[in-house]
Amino acid sequence: MKVVRWMAVLSATPVVLAILQPASHAESAESPKARTVVSLTFDDGDKTHVAAARILEKRGMLGTFYVNSDTIGRERKLDRRQLAAIAKAGHEIGGHTLTHARLTELPESEQRVQICDDRRALAAWGYRPATLAYPFGSVDDDAKSVARQCGYDAARRVGGLKDGACRGCPAAEDPRPKDRYEIRTPGSVHGDTLLRQLKQQVLNTEKSGGGFLPLVFHRVCGNCGLYSVAPRTLEDFLDWLATRESRGTVVKTFQDAVGARYRPLPPQE
Ligand SMILES: [Zn+2]
Repeated sequence: MKVVRWMAVLSATPVVLAILQPASHAESAESPKARTVVSLTFDDGDKTHVAAARILEKRGMLGTFYVNSDTIGRERKLDRRQLAAIAKAGHEIGGHTLTHARLTELPESEQRVQICDDRRALAAWGYRPATLAYPFGSVDDDAKSVARQCGYDAARRVGGLKDGACRGCPAAEDPRPKDRYEIRTPGSVHGDTLLRQLKQQVLNTEKSGGGFLPLVFHRVCGNCGLYSVAPRTLEDFLDWLATRESRGTVVKTFQDAVGARYRPLPPQE
């Protein structure tokens, strides 16, 4: 019996050590080859993200889930318990405004309510939101400065990187993005995005010398709307993505990819 127990301890030891290793060690272990960093981001707090999170976890990957705090618990949306389970598994929870507002159509005072109060709600639920995704990818200078004032350390738009709609755009964002409050992505993954196209975006980044490639997903379900990806496509893509580690390509949360820190909330006005 004793021998068996020791065997179990010994075989578990490397895993435990890997977990206990500080992030900085893990970073240096993966460099200099780790040049492409992919972030898997999921917008809108859709109920299908419970399954999406598990698909990532099965492959040892962590994603970023951008939620609208006012819609949590509504039909087709995650409830508080589901959101807590996703966070507990180690995924990042980020802000996406209270009600999915198109910020560029709002005066600055209302942008502040949408961004700051959403972040306050998430913090009150025990999360430490450090990054924001602008709904519809819609952003202007006011929204960027409000995002900063509300305490976000980085923010993501949609588009600006190479995809079918912009063949001349750069393949990837800078590893240290010039504008942390307008980080670019390829267009959102949608129902007819092919597995081949997802792979190609990663390959383009690797070929261009690496960089930061945040990918934007919405619902994760088969044939369920324009902004969806079939679970099978996501699984096949992530299985393939895992094999790219040998080429220095890794998956990180958006926050970890850009080194965003949690900053305290501004005082309530
Ligand atoms: Zn959205």
